[in-house]
Amino acid sequence: MIRDITYSDTDLSRKSEDVIPEDINSPKVESIINDMIDTLEHYSVQLNAIGISACQIGEYKKIIVICRRIGFRRTNQVFINLKILEQYGEINSEEGCISLPNRFYVIKRPKTIKVGYYNRQGKYIEEEIRGKLVQILCHEADHGDGITIKRRCIQQLREDEER
Ligand SMILES: [Zn+2]
Repeated sequence: MIRDITYSDTDLSRKSEDVIPEDINSPKVESIINDMIDTLEHYSVQLNAIGISACQIGEYKKIIVICRRIGFRRTNQVFINLKILEQYGEINSEEGCISLPNRFYVIKRPKTIKVGYYNRQGKYIEEEIRGKLVQILCHEADHGDGITIKRRCIQQLREDEER
């Protein structure tokens, strides 16, 4: 089911909770993931969106769905309770967000990250991520902590001034 997107700054500032690993295969979590996929696919056509966090459909759980294009094939990848364990390098990335339509912010992101997460089947995975996916996952992980790109951008400008 395509769900409404959260635009409210107060709601987007809310921190999401981890999913209890035993609940990953529960009907409730399954239905949140299915709705996230439907909503992302809807907006990916309209806004060229590639990732969505559960808080953007009003579910405050640490669930991320990324739509990856491999040739003409599209696959959705699910990251549950994603944690960034290590990060290396720095790169400026121009980012947009379906919750902040038509606004773009330049954010500093790492070049490479090591992440830990549960996949849709409930298996815990640790892996190193490179390339464009790093920025997308950092963006979506921030949503889980209640941080939008607007807030991240302001915070980074402040840090730069203090340097
Ligand atoms: Zn976003």
